[in-house]
Amino acid sequence: MESLTPPAFRRALLRWFDRSRRAMPWRDDPQPYKVWISEVMLQQTQVATVRPYFNRFLDRFPDVAALASADLQDVLTIWQGLGYYSRARSLHRAARHLMTERNGELPRRAEEWEQLPGIGPYAAGAIVSISFGDVVPAVDGNVIRVFTRLLGIRADSTTPTVRRELTDCVAGLIAPRRAGDFNQAVMELGALVCKPRNPACEACPLQRWCVAHAKGLTAAIPHRPRRKPVPHMDVAACVIRRGPKILIARRRPDQMLGGLWEFPGGKQEPGETLEQTAGREIDEEIGITIRVRSKLGAIPHAFSHFKMTLHVFDCTPVRGRARAVTVDAIRWVTVSELRDYPFPAADLKIVEWLEDAR
Ligand code: SF4
Repeated sequence: MESLTPPAFRRALLRWFDRSRRAMPWRDDPQPYKVWISEVMLQQTQVATVRPYFNRFLDRFPDVAALASADLQDVLTIWQGLGYYSRARSLHRAARHLMTERNGELPRRAEEWEQLPGIGPYAAGAIVSISFGDVVPAVDGNVIRVFTRLLGIRADSTTPTVRRELTDCVAGLIAPRRAGDFNQAVMELGALVCKPRNPACEACPLQRWCVAHAKGLTAAIPHRPRRKPVPHMDVAACVIRRGPKILIARRRPDQMLGGLWEFPGGKQEPGETLEQTAGREIDEEIGITIRVRSKLGAIPHAFSHFKMTLHVFDCTPVRGRARAVTVDAIRWVTVSELRDYPFPAADLKIVEWLEDAR
């Protein structure tokens, strides 16, 4: 193995990046607003998924003023299907903060970006290095994988100590005149070559310095502690019909998936049948008594920290006047109006069922 010198490392990495970089809409014109939106969308999400969302978002909200003046519902509707909706809410909050506190001017320094909702050290480093060329590391999951392998770090890669060690290492290697490209090159290498499984070491520009490759440890690094099993819950969701209309409810802003619309219902409690769950939840949330007519189906869905099965019931109201008791708002809408409202992924499946049944 060769000993690593920063100039040779940068040359090899950047040469590879210049040859291999993928075209991305935010790369053509890396203004801070575009890089900010792209970095938030790319958290936990693949480039190919983000591309169409990014283009639609920029068409609709071309700058921070447009984003700040938009209704949150419109932002969530554009975001619909991309998941992790707190990212959209944070973007919207940050845009409003920038308009009121800075007259719409975007921050210039990484520390200022980190003050905004939804922006951590990684995103701040990515934005200022890509947009302004600041020599600031941006350490995300891809970078952690590349550098733990390169350095042969076998300790738990999720600890702050390892992350600090990697950040210091990247800071010592980053190319002073091409900091943004350097950060993007490492991320790109992690996405295309140094993949989680079966890294393509034979095509890697860093192979001659890589400890994991030399010692045959690429499968063991990065080391992550075993995850605890993910809990599962059963949830009832009710399609409550009144003539041609169906009741939908908006989740409260302080809840998970806050601001999104759903078919109301909730989690099954011990000792309840799912039909009883449906009745209890609707009484608590909407203040009416329902009759469950039939089961429409079940939708399995996984979140990052739990899994659920959404059991969907066709229901009619039998007593009381519907109102928003513990939900944020309710609406009676026709099937064709459902697409005007942002729904989480599992509820979108119900929307599709209802559209197919028309
Ligand atoms: S040589 Fe293999 S393990 Fe090492 S950085 Fe390159 S792709 Fe990753």
